[in-house]
Amino acid sequence: MTRLLLHACCAPCSLEPVRLLMEEGFEPTICWSNPNIQPLAEHDRRLHELRVWTRKRGIRLIEAGDDRARWDRAVAPLGADRERRCRACYGMRLAEACRVAQEEGFTHIATTLAVSPYQLFDTCNEVLEALAAAHGLIPVIRDFRPWYPEATRHSRELGMYRQKYCGCRFSAAEAAMDRARLRDERKAEKERSKAERSEGQAALS
Ligand code: SF4
Repeated sequence: MTRLLLHACCAPCSLEPVRLLMEEGFEPTICWSNPNIQPLAEHDRRLHELRVWTRKRGIRLIEAGDDRARWDRAVAPLGADRERRCRACYGMRLAEACRVAQEEGFTHIATTLAVSPYQLFDTCNEVLEALAAAHGLIPVIRDFRPWYPEATRHSRELGMYRQKYCGCRFSAAEAAMDRARLRDERKAEKERSKAERSEGQAALS
């Protein structure tokens, strides 16, 4: 088994990457470094869920640096520019995971961020590759996104807490706007169908 440090954003997103990496012959240790999650209560809730799950599964969890003030200084000012904001956010979290991996003698590094279709997949991989190279690590780049529906199903089955947004306050606002837009679209669709049915009935009478 090859020891691998797996940066994890939360417990639900860890399920499939851990299973798939183990099938490939890796022995994952999980590393938590997510100073992006706001508010603090949400951060603590996700971390708690990850602690419970790793304990149950007998997987080692390393709780690495979580410098929330630094995230606010370095990433928050990029707020509205999603590409730059997420790149800087990935950079901060994955740099900490790489630092830990190097310190603890791991050779390989990966991230559970690669399971979510809501992440900027290519940006995240670019950042991981560059940081891994700088720390003398081998990045394990995998596209876990096809397993996202399975991760959703399985985490629901396990009764895990599932968050509704990526982590930062900007993503919470973006997710709320997306939900509102989808609600409006569904409502408009219903009204359109209702109007079409009424027109059809009027034409028949
Ligand atoms: S959307 Fe997610 S990855 Fe992007 S800055 Fe916010 S917390 Fe970080």
